[in-house]
Amino acid sequence: MDRKLYAEVIIEISHEKIDRPFEYAVPPGLAESIHMGDKVVVPFGRGNTPRGGYVIGLKDHTDFDPDRIKSVISVSSDGTGVEGSQIALAWWIRSHFGGTMIQALKTVIPIKKKMTIRTTRRVDRLISSEEMEAVIEECERRHQTARLRVLRALLAEPTLPYELVRDKLNVSSPTLKSLSDKGYIGITETEYYRNPVVRDDESAATHELSPTQLDIITTVTNDHFSGNPGKYLIHGITGSGKTEVYIGIARRMVDAGLQVIVLIPEISLTYQTLLRFYKRFGDRVSVVHSSMSAGARYDQYVRAMRGELDVIIGPRSALFTPFERLGAIIIDEEHESSYKSENVPRYSTRECAEYVSQSRGVSLILGSATPSVDAYYKASKGIYRLFRMDERLTGGSLPAVYVEDLREELKMGNRSIFSRRLQNLIADRLDKGEQIMLFINRRGVAGFVSCRSCGYVCRCPHCDVSLTEHKNGRMTCHYCGYSEPKPAVCPECGSGYVAGFRAGTEQIEADVKTMYPRARVLRMDADTTREQGSMENILRSFRDHEADVLVGTQMIVKGHDFPLVTLVGILAADMSLGVGDYRAAERTFQLLTQAAGRAGRGDRPGEVVIQTYQTGHYSIRASREHDYASFYREEMAYRTLALYPPVWHMLAILVVADTEDDGLRQADAYKDLIEKRLDQIAASGTDGTVRGYVLGPAPAMISRIRDKYRYVLYVKNPDMEILVSVKDVLEENMRENPNRHVLTFFDFDPLNSV
Ligand code: ADP
Ligand code: ZN
Ligand code: ZN
Repeated sequence: MDRKLYAEVIIEISHEKIDRPFEYAVPPGLAESIHMGDKVVVPFGRGNTPRGGYVIGLKDHTDFDPDRIKSVISVSSDGTGVEGSQIALAWWIRSHFGGTMIQALKTVIPIKKKMTIRTTRRVDRLISSEEMEAVIEECERRHQTARLRVLRALLAEPTLPYELVRDKLNVSSPTLKSLSDKGYIGITETEYYRNPVVRDDESAATHELSPTQLDIITTVTNDHFSGNPGKYLIHGITGSGKTEVYIGIARRMVDAGLQVIVLIPEISLTYQTLLRFYKRFGDRVSVVHSSMSAGARYDQYVRAMRGELDVIIGPRSALFTPFERLGAIIIDEEHESSYKSENVPRYSTRECAEYVSQSRGVSLILGSATPSVDAYYKASKGIYRLFRMDERLTGGSLPAVYVEDLREELKMGNRSIFSRRLQNLIADRLDKGEQIMLFINRRGVAGFVSCRSCGYVCRCPHCDVSLTEHKNGRMTCHYCGYSEPKPAVCPECGSGYVAGFRAGTEQIEADVKTMYPRARVLRMDADTTREQGSMENILRSFRDHEADVLVGTQMIVKGHDFPLVTLVGILAADMSLGVGDYRAAERTFQLLTQAAGRAGRGDRPGEVVIQTYQTGHYSIRASREHDYASFYREEMAYRTLALYPPVWHMLAILVVADTEDDGLRQADAYKDLIEKRLDQIAASGTDGTVRGYVLGPAPAMISRIRDKYRYVLYVKNPDMEILVSVKDVLEENMRENPNRHVLTFFDFDPLNSV
């Protein structure tokens, strides 16, 4: 008897209304070839238009009328489906970060379309040289000149590339075929991959592991192999040997037949890091990144599917590499903001990795010189095991850090962008032929309002974040919507120098050139790196000492290693503090610490000058002292008091509407639903349950983009699952009352102001 089979299919259209599985009958002819995750074509809608979709379930019964249910048209077997195990991950992503199932599926599918794997062919001599000489004599008698060309060549060289034989020796395919049929030669076709890593046969310099390194590697792998895969945070200063620990863990996993995913922020995906892995794992390690061709990326995916890779290195999307024998996920520089997706679903790579770790028994290793407050908090709660690496293994001491007060400079009549100390040190380094990096934080350039005379920053009286300047002369809070006119004089000291801070990289470059005419200056920012490869060019040129000064935005502080740089100037450390969101201090501390880490990487000691209006701010003090612990303490005090993540969680709801009216009405309606839901939670919850609250609606950070009006609501609660349930309520409402004038986006624990 025929066994009936039905498929649950997610249609490839992203719309809330159809964001659910549709059921189709599987015709008997396809029953053998259909699997979970396969891409299929099905008739959809009233017109039965053929549409693509993904199979997320297979079952032998249906509640629909079996005579009226539509049937799957075809199954595509080109490998662009989802791995069965990834479907569960997609569900989890959808339910925890919002968006539709099809968006979640597309997130976990590493490739978008099938490509062909390239092949090469070669021609081999299959007989001995004596036999070959006999065949050649025979051909000479018959004047078969084409045959003679290839056979003589094969006598000298037993293997030749097919293209050479065909194109250079000019031997036709039928001729080769007949020689092959006779058994004289063989023609073999082999696949080859577009390989992103260039071979380098220099052998790896192996160090004897330090006791700390060995301890971490042993602990992690022993936990894993004794059946207790764990989650770990390595807090180790730059140069303390973290990468070597990652390699050590990967080595032991791979030796046991397991596979490893190594995530690195795109920007620090440098050739050197790659090479270090490549030297240890050879052809069985590969890389994926955004500037690779689609073909090359496809090939790495195929190699992973076929089990031909042990280690993959890449940015956040590499987390979705289809490894069947996954043993560990390593996330380097875990604090980096690029680990949060900026597209829907706005997933957090760390949380997805935790889910994978939990559901598949995979070890998770996070590493950073400046751990995110979120990760450190989890370590303090025992969710991650914490390891510390406090010493630079290559010698070299931490740089001396000076904090210069810009208010003092102004008082002393210094109106330039550079403090007197920085000016002297720049001159000194130019004399010595050493290099200088000058760093300005681009974020916040259009933004916070401060007093140039006393450093006072205008802040929201309700939210403890700074206000942001708008063109209409008012300042607004992006959390609660509070707004007030920009003051004409400073409320603190009465000076008239109240303004948005606006010095940019171009200005600094010009000033350096004016003040130090002999200095050779390079600039690296969004403008100068727009073209492909231009960033690498600037970095190479600076490394080759073709310039004395590199001026740039945060791009210049990440991971680059320049032994001749002995001075780093941070021109306005407050800029990142001025950004109106609760992570400003954390970001500032990370940036300052990283920027400072650029100085004195070689054998010459380094110096760092931090210029600021807020000499007393704890993020600045802590980075001067290289003191993460004190930063963390102060930051946690603030987050605890203000109920910000990680103490409480936050859901940002962005409403994008055609008109102000549509936007506000929808946002208000959401607010009612949220209040009701929170009341319900408070009424039905257990003792520990907290109601939490909702803020807004307020105009978003950018209140209008391309004539769409943007409003934001924030929901706060200590329990993430309660926020997820709030999102579910709103999503349900979106399905039931579709509003085509409004789009809604969710962002959990947002990294930036929405
Ligand atoms: P991180 O990733 O923490 O910045 P790395 O692993 O890159 O640190 O190590 C920093 C430098 O120290 C590298 O040049 C590396 O070759 C070297 N190094 C790492 N481990 C050792 C060791 N056990 N002994 C000596 N040098 C080491
Ligand atoms: Zn003032
Ligand atoms: Zn506010």
